[in-house]
Amino acid sequence: MRTRGANQKNLDMTLNRIFLWLALALFCPMASAQYPGWQQAVEYSMEITLDTTQHQYTGAMKVVLQNNSPDDLDRAFFHLFFNAFQPGSMMDVRSRTIEDPDRRVGSRIFELPEEEWGWQRVKSLTVNGKPVQFTHDGTILDVALNDPIGSGKKCTFEMEWDAQVPRQIRRSGWMNREGIEYSMTQWYPKLCEYDHDGWHTEPYVGREFHGIWGDYDVTIHLPAGCPVGATGVLQGDEEQALTSGTWRFVAENVIDFAWASDPDYVHDTLQAGQVMLHFYHQPLDEEYAENWEQLPAYTAKAMDFLNELIGPYPYPQYSVIQGGDGGMEYPMATLITGNRSLQSLVGVTVHEMAHSWFQAVLATNESLYEFMDEGMTSYATELCMNHLFAGPGSDGFPHRGAYSGYISQALSGKEEPLITHADHYQTNRAYGVAAYSKGEVLVAQLAAIMGEESRDTGLKKYFEDWKFKHPGPQELKRAMEQSCGFDLDWYFQYFINTTHTIDYAIDQVIEGKEMTTISCSRIGAMPMPQNITITYQDGSKASYLAPLVMMRGHRPLKKDEVLLPDWPWTHPTYTFEIPTLSGIAAVELDADRQTADVNRENNLVELNGQARRIFKRN
Ligand SMILES: [Zn+2]
Repeated sequence: MRTRGANQKNLDMTLNRIFLWLALALFCPMASAQYPGWQQAVEYSMEITLDTTQHQYTGAMKVVLQNNSPDDLDRAFFHLFFNAFQPGSMMDVRSRTIEDPDRRVGSRIFELPEEEWGWQRVKSLTVNGKPVQFTHDGTILDVALNDPIGSGKKCTFEMEWDAQVPRQIRRSGWMNREGIEYSMTQWYPKLCEYDHDGWHTEPYVGREFHGIWGDYDVTIHLPAGCPVGATGVLQGDEEQALTSGTWRFVAENVIDFAWASDPDYVHDTLQAGQVMLHFYHQPLDEEYAENWEQLPAYTAKAMDFLNELIGPYPYPQYSVIQGGDGGMEYPMATLITGNRSLQSLVGVTVHEMAHSWFQAVLATNESLYEFMDEGMTSYATELCMNHLFAGPGSDGFPHRGAYSGYISQALSGKEEPLITHADHYQTNRAYGVAAYSKGEVLVAQLAAIMGEESRDTGLKKYFEDWKFKHPGPQELKRAMEQSCGFDLDWYFQYFINTTHTIDYAIDQVIEGKEMTTISCSRIGAMPMPQNITITYQDGSKASYLAPLVMMRGHRPLKKDEVLLPDWPWTHPTYTFEIPTLSGIAAVELDADRQTADVNRENNLVELNGQARRIFKRN
């Protein structure tokens, strides 16, 4: 599903050059709203035949790359993900040497017998009909082109390869722990992405899959009687495919293609608005089977919710497939394990489906900016789960867990900045907390700065402006700034690039007859605007807002809220006066707990039973 025609693209290219020139001429960073302006495009047509006794397959494919970049490319690279599943691979060694290994991997790759290894071996490769030299370098195929691929030119790769599907260790492989025969993810030689940042040839060590949007036409030959769930839309009749063992799927404008197969799969569908939902699972024990029966209705509701929250899901279909080793997102599909409570089953489905917007359509480079994929997905997941399941006891703020996870990591001293490459964190925990929890807080916390409504509008704007363009943090920041109308540089700078924490305190409250003087201080290194709530002796409340100078603005004031002078970040302390009225009962900073203040003990002061009420922090 191409979003724009070729003429529009050419026009955009010309306009982008003009914008680029203007930007350079005027040194005007605002012009970056047009950036990056081009995307590579690719078409895959492939045919593979799987030998289910040896767990090996042969593949042949034609890959047509449209080099829309302004650069001539003298090299090309393909991912060979299966090569990670061999003793001594980077993934194996990393998993055995990191302080807190992923328990799904540990030393399992190291212990694999050779017949259970994964590998991909390219037998032949031509470029535009002529053979080329190539080198297998672990999980990357390095292709030496005879001639550069010119800017604006097309190039056709034709490849034949053999592969052995690994015993399922991480994400892909045969026979997962629930007995699913084939989880076929990261399974074919995939052309590496070349974007405005250059080539992305990360070895497969642990995670994250950047890719080129392309059209896939995939034909899979299997023994008869093995149902297949996949990215893409099945061509022809399912019964016929089951009988013949030949499955052809077509997917348009996706960054990857995944599939899974098990002879026992039960296949259900449910139409949800424009989108056909598919569900594939084995017959399960009674306690789990009931949950899968309820899953389609929840998934349809979640699809509606996410469409409303972020923007319209652009593909015709989405498949929830039992397989893999937990939950992993792919375009138009997810592989999840199936033996789960209802809450867990719906939770993992919602999370993986929410990735469709962030991983599949916005497709931020998740190696570099994992928080913009996992964190924003977690943000949407928690809101959606709150919508689906929140009972009367819920406090309506579903991000509480993310805040406490992030804060405890920050206080542990082992936090690493969000900007760390996904594979290069010192610990898996530091990655997990940063990518998922702090990434979620990054978005949730914007409510304290710009207000909920403006943040929500900004999220929709971000999706609309940057879908199919691989945005980075700057683009998210700009969309949010354009929504609220003031400066957010400082917020993204501090929260993404540093591990500085937020800690504000009330130092002193001196209640006078007419006026009360309140002094606060910033203890943490990260500045934040402060919302101060006063509770009076008669039970009435008043709200005050102290923005930061560098915001050059503030969120809309709540009803009767009083705007205080800006607090310069250079000033460790801040003093202001309020009317004493019936007497001060309590003063609290950030009473709605919207900021990730790492120490709340010093946020609240209660003045009770004193003749002349004075509070002074020691
Ligand atoms: Zn995720």
